[in-house]
Amino acid sequence: MRKHKKSNPILTIINWLLILAILICLSFAAYFYLTKSNSQTSNSQMSSQTSSQATESSSSSQDQTTSDDSQVDWIKQDTTVKFPILMYHAIHVMAAEESANANLIVDPTTFESEIKALVDAGYYFLSPEEAYKVLTENVLPNGNNKIVWLTFDDSLWDFYSNAYPIMKKYGVKATSFAITGYVQNSTTGYYTPEQMLEMESNRMSIESHTVNHPDLEVSSSDSQASEMSNSDDYLQSTLNKDVIAIAYPAGRYSDTTLSLAANNYSLGVTTNEGLASADNGLLSLNRVRILPTTTAESLLQQIAN
Ligand SMILES: [Zn+2]
Repeated sequence: MRKHKKSNPILTIINWLLILAILICLSFAAYFYLTKSNSQTSNSQMSSQTSSQATESSSSSQDQTTSDDSQVDWIKQDTTVKFPILMYHAIHVMAAEESANANLIVDPTTFESEIKALVDAGYYFLSPEEAYKVLTENVLPNGNNKIVWLTFDDSLWDFYSNAYPIMKKYGVKATSFAITGYVQNSTTGYYTPEQMLEMESNRMSIESHTVNHPDLEVSSSDSQASEMSNSDDYLQSTLNKDVIAIAYPAGRYSDTTLSLAANNYSLGVTTNEGLASADNGLLSLNRVRILPTTTAESLLQQIAN
């Protein structure tokens, strides 16, 4: 039989303490390694996003810093605030067979020059909620009278593919009025529910343009009410937010439309030409139509207050 050596209890304690110390060192090392590789992953994700944003233009111009909206100081004004709500539809290079709709199509290069001109001129881009604040409280952000609300009707595919990347590049906010029946069914030619969610979490606001884009002015009260409330319900539940604005399809509405719209919305935009102010009525706001022939220079002249 082998004789067992009695171990020294002090040496045993020292051994255990050493093992414990090594384990603590190892876990710290593992923690720092993981943290570092995580931040590298998110950095590389960010840079791949930035490069995909810049696909529209090969220029090396840096992305504009996104303004921090929480820093805005809203200053009360003595005179009624008026501001441009720009109305766009399609943003793509027009094909020859589209000439009948030519007035609704703006070239992406022209569009980018307009956004750049607005940013360079110091315009503040409003969300629907900020537009509501301006109209109801008669305030301006940091007292800046250069404010603009960018709006796009019809939830077209090119809002996601062409307009959104440009606006992301310049860090500006915009609103898309969605025909919810087309989006919900992923109809060809319109952005999808997934694209809508992605944009909503990247400074785009998706608001209502009814379910099926009917002429509300000649629709029955029941049909108007369901077109307006069903699109509101779909957007609220899909986007998990309070939808506050509607654009009337083709700018067509009646007094009945306005009183029904008030059940679901706080703001309504029309195709009536001009700067918007509370004097229009919150549910019948003017907009400024952007034509394919509009240039960055003519736009700035047109909306100068
Ligand atoms: Zn429309």
